[in-house]
Amino acid sequence: MIKTIVIIGAGLAGATAARSLRAQGYQGKIHMVGEEACVAYDRPSLSKDVLAGKLGDPPFIMDPFWYASADIDLHLGVRVTSIDVVSRQVLFESGHTLAYDRLLLATGVRARRMAIMGCELAGIHTLRDNADSFALRQVLGPGKSLVIVGGGLIGCEVATTARKAGTTVTILEAGDELLLRVLGHKIGAWCRAELELMGVRIELNAQASHFEGKGHVRAVVCADGRRVAADVVLISIGAEPADELARAAGIACERGVLVDATGASSCPEVFAVGDVAAWPLRAGGRRSLETYMNSQMQAETAAAAMLGTPVPAPQVPTSWTEIAGHRMQMIGDFGGPGEIVLRGDVQNGQPLVLFRLLDGRIEAATAINAAKEFSIATRLVVGRVPVSAKQLQDASLNLRELLKTKAQLCT
Ligand code: FAD
Ligand code: NAD
Repeated sequence: MIKTIVIIGAGLAGATAARSLRAQGYQGKIHMVGEEACVAYDRPSLSKDVLAGKLGDPPFIMDPFWYASADIDLHLGVRVTSIDVVSRQVLFESGHTLAYDRLLLATGVRARRMAIMGCELAGIHTLRDNADSFALRQVLGPGKSLVIVGGGLIGCEVATTARKAGTTVTILEAGDELLLRVLGHKIGAWCRAELELMGVRIELNAQASHFEGKGHVRAVVCADGRRVAADVVLISIGAEPADELARAAGIACERGVLVDATGASSCPEVFAVGDVAAWPLRAGGRRSLETYMNSQMQAETAAAAMLGTPVPAPQVPTSWTEIAGHRMQMIGDFGGPGEIVLRGDVQNGQPLVLFRLLDGRIEAATAINAAKEFSIATRLVVGRVPVSAKQLQDASLNLRELLKTKAQLCT
């Protein structure tokens, strides 16, 4: 009989799991322990509307009053320092312990740091929580020059927001294109052109080697000698899973807590969800997906599994971003074999969808300013609907027709 569930991490995945446990009728104790001093909030807004000052604070995931009404024992501003999987207890920094029947790890990721000369100088930021976003917002604006080290999702979203606020912005990206991890070369190059149109300076193949300044950062210097003056620096070079508690407890980890498609770890009573979980992918392999929607879906799956109704749910990564005034929605991985097929023409103001097609099935799709097409593309990807490149490129064919083909094939 499960009487007590402890959730470590009071972010999106932790809060979604708590809600899901109650929605599924679990009436036992739920303890949620979070290092941050507040209940779960929306991180995506931190690089967008909150950083722009359009929102004073990020929206909450659930109304703060919900936790008391759902009888959740919140321990906020509290860091868990270890887990004992034998006695089934977690230990707080204060020395306090909590016993559990099931434990859910939802500790997320942390911004990767750079251990190079000058990294301790004032004016160097990372962006993961509300305090980071607030601190960065104070130092952007006309007359300020921001150098962003790392041209991935955070780098390009912040470049957009900072540029709109009148900041001089330079991105230093180590790779030969922006956004390669999630969007691939074609869209990376398109985003680069769009950011340049906004006035963002972009340096590719730029490996930061040290920071210059006395007390406060004044410039970033690259390994090949390129030097860019800076009042403010943002380091956005990726994330590291916060899996140290699991590793120390002997739970199998490999860039995140290794879990099966129900969120179960190598330790029978311990589950992991969200950014910290290396979750099985439909296409094979396991990794942390680092997206909002996958974190929510994983939390719901693991809540059911903890209550004894495991329904395996392999994942297809799905996400969105807002760069240079364009909204992009993504499903699947663009890295991988197959053919890249384009539908639409974004330069002429039409919605555009890019597909990665392999053996007559869509493995991945990215839609630019094309929300309707994306919702159909998602169903094509999830349903593994057979399609051809010719059909996808044919503007006279409504993509919805392809879903009907699938329905006919199934009858
Ligand atoms: P988190 O939200 O990081 O929560 C983990 C919590 O665990 C944290 O509060 C942390 O303090 C706590 N914790 C860690 N260790 C301990 C410990 N030992 N004891 C107690 N508590 C602990 N995704 C999208 O799909 N689209 C977007 O547009 C998008 N934009 C983003 C913009 C920014 C700036 C950032 C940072 C992320 C963005 N994401 C986006 C990613 C998305 O926010 C994450 O995928 C999601 O927040 C993951 O949820 P999580 O609960 O797993 O982790
Ligand atoms: P990222 O992986 O998207 O991008 C990191 C970039 O930094 C890559 O392009 C990489 O080539 C580059 N890089 C790595 N080392 C470098 C170096 N030494 N010098 C210069 N460039 C270097 O990671 P991120 O943008 O830092 O995002 C961190 C986390 O936040 C991720 O979990 C991400 O999913 C999440 N996030 C998601 C969204 C979204 O989904 N829209 C938005 C913002 C943040």
